Amino acid sequence: MIYITKGLAHVRFVTLLIGNVVKKSTVNYIIADYKSGDLENFTFAGENGTVTPFKSMPKVLLMDIETSPNKMAGWALFNQNFGLEQIEREWFLLSYSAKWLGEEEVIYNDMKGKVDTEDDTQLLQELWNLFDEADIVVGQNHRRFDIKKINARMLMQGITKPYSPIRTEDTLDIAKRKFAFTSNKLGWMTEHLNVEFKKQDHGKFAGFKLWKECMLENDEAWEEMRTYNIFDVLSLEELWLKLRCWDDKGVNFALYTDDTEMRCSCGSTDLEEHGYAYTSLSKFTQYRCKTCGKFSRGRVNHFTKEKRASLLMNVIGK
Ligand SMILES: [Zn+2]
Repeated sequence: MIYITKGLAHVRFVTLLIGNVVKKSTVNYIIADYKSGDLENFTFAGENGTVTPFKSMPKVLLMDIETSPNKMAGWALFNQNFGLEQIEREWFLLSYSAKWLGEEEVIYNDMKGKVDTEDDTQLLQELWNLFDEADIVVGQNHRRFDIKKINARMLMQGITKPYSPIRTEDTLDIAKRKFAFTSNKLGWMTEHLNVEFKKQDHGKFAGFKLWKECMLENDEAWEEMRTYNIFDVLSLEELWLKLRCWDDKGVNFALYTDDTEMRCSCGSTDLEEHGYAYTSLSKFTQYRCKTCGKFSRGRVNHFTKEKRASLLMNVIGK
């Protein structure tokens, strides 16, 4: 497996852990505490000082893959239908990049030097291990594309046992459900919403040419693919952290902690009461997370039995 250290600034690293904006002096103080072991909420996950945000928080994997094209034989360009017998070589996994939330490294590997073999087993095994360790996998359109493509290749390549079950969060699904952006593509969203990392445009090899040149084992093209893939995952992380507090269907991180503290679904305990939330028969205390801004509600109904009995309901007509 190839590890690439991105070297995140400490400010960003601590921001990921504890909130939105932190002053540098606070950061140094926290990092010093963390390294001396005084900060109980953080756990070491490696000798290089990488951490998992909060104790027992879920392991969140951000990921992206690129696949090779099918090689097909055809007679014309426009409006063609291809039959299975026209496929000369099936697609396979070309590269992947992944990153654990809260850690610095971006994990990347590709088929450089092995395109002719079409044997992507090594990449698949690495992904299997990452998925097996992850509680939640985050991607852009990965529910429909990446994960199913990976699953298909695993089975085709003889990896028959499934990895342990994962929950998924998909930035494309959040974008479609909660916003009406001009485009829901990762490129558009990261260009307009991200500050630190944006999806990279292809440099020397525009569009399909990058894939074609990688298939021809062009070193420069592989270098560009690596940069492209790594920035996909870094920009995905920044985008997801921005979108998730708007999402009312995300995974509740509080489920993964062993304590009984009241937490926002992002894991933060920094909550303030903010009015009430109502359903047709109930009234609950509403909370705003001071870390991510997301609203949640308590589970204790403030309405008395008498108040509930007095509430009239709509009659549903035909
Ligand atoms: Zn929150």
